[in-house]
Amino acid sequence: MVIYTYSDLLQSLLEYLSEAGVSNAYWEARELAGAALGFNCRGKFDAKTQADTEQIKLCANLLARRLMGEPLQYIIGEWDFCGESFKVGSGVLIPRADTETLIERACSLLGGEKELTVIDLCSGSGCIGITLEKKLDCKEVWCVEKSEAAMYFLKENAARLNSACKPLLGDVTDESLPEKLPLADLMICNPPYISAADIKKLQKEVTFEPVEALFGGEDGCDFYREIVRLWKSRLKPEGIMMFEIGAGQEDEVMQIMIQAGMRDVRARRDMAGINRCVYGRNSVQKNEAVNLYDQLDKAERNLH
Ligand code: GLN
Repeated sequence: MVIYTYSDLLQSLLEYLSEAGVSNAYWEARELAGAALGFNCRGKFDAKTQADTEQIKLCANLLARRLMGEPLQYIIGEWDFCGESFKVGSGVLIPRADTETLIERACSLLGGEKELTVIDLCSGSGCIGITLEKKLDCKEVWCVEKSEAAMYFLKENAARLNSACKPLLGDVTDESLPEKLPLADLMICNPPYISAADIKKLQKEVTFEPVEALFGGEDGCDFYREIVRLWKSRLKPEGIMMFEIGAGQEDEVMQIMIQAGMRDVRARRDMAGINRCVYGRNSVQKNEAVNLYDQLDKAERNLH
C-alpha cells in the first residue's frame, strides 16, 4: 500500500494549483494539505504525518472545490483577523487584512477611555465588534447584522472567542432600528461598498461571497448616506463614526459626513497606501448651533 504523508499531499496539491494558475499556489497548497490532515499549517506540525484514506479523499475534495474557484478561506473554514481566528463559510464576508486599519485607528483614538459603548453595523463575521470588545475597555458592544447566514457565523465567533458582544439581527437601513440601541462612543461599519461598474468585474473568488455584503449601489456609497442620515443621532455628543471605504471613495464619504455636521473628518490609508478608513466626530447638533447663534445675535442687538 502506498503511504502518503503531508509532504506528498503538499507536492501533489502544488502541482494541480500551479497548473490551474493559482498565483500563490505553494502557500495555498500548505493550507489545504494542513486542513485535510486536520491541523493548522501555520502552527507546529510534523511534515511526515501520514494521511489515512479518508484524509486523502478529503484532500481531493478540498482541491476540487478550490479549482472551481471557491475562496480558500471558505474551504478551510476559518481565517485570521487581528491575531484571532474567525470561523467563515458560505454566506458571510471573509475578514480582510485591510479592515485591520479600522481597528488600529479605533484603538489609537479610544485606547485610553473607559466603559465605551460601541456599535458595529453590518457586522458580518463579527470580526470588528469582537476584536474591539477585546482590545478596548467596553461597557457594551452591539453587532448588528441583517443576514441570518452571517449571524450564524457571528454568534459562533462570539462564542469561540469568549466575547460578550451583543449580536442583533436587524437591517441598518430600517428607520426604527437606531432608537433601539444606546448612544455610542464609537459607531463603526464596513458596509457593502462596491459600485455597479465594479460589481461586474469581481475576481472569481469574491463572487462566492454574498452580494448583499458587497454591493453598495450605483456609486457604491448608498450605505454611507443612509447610515449617516439614520444613525448619527445615536452618537454621543463627542462620539466617533468610522467607516471602511473602497478605493477612491474618500472624497464622497468625507463630504457626506461633513455635510451632516461632523467635525475632524479624516481619512486613513491601509498597508497598500489606499485610503481605507474615514472617520469623524459628532458635534453640536445643527439646530442647537443655530439657536446659539440667534441668541448671540439678540444679545448683540440689545447692546446697541
Ligand atoms: N473589501 C471587499 C472587496 O473588495 C469589499 C467589502 C465591502 O464591500 N465592504 O472585495
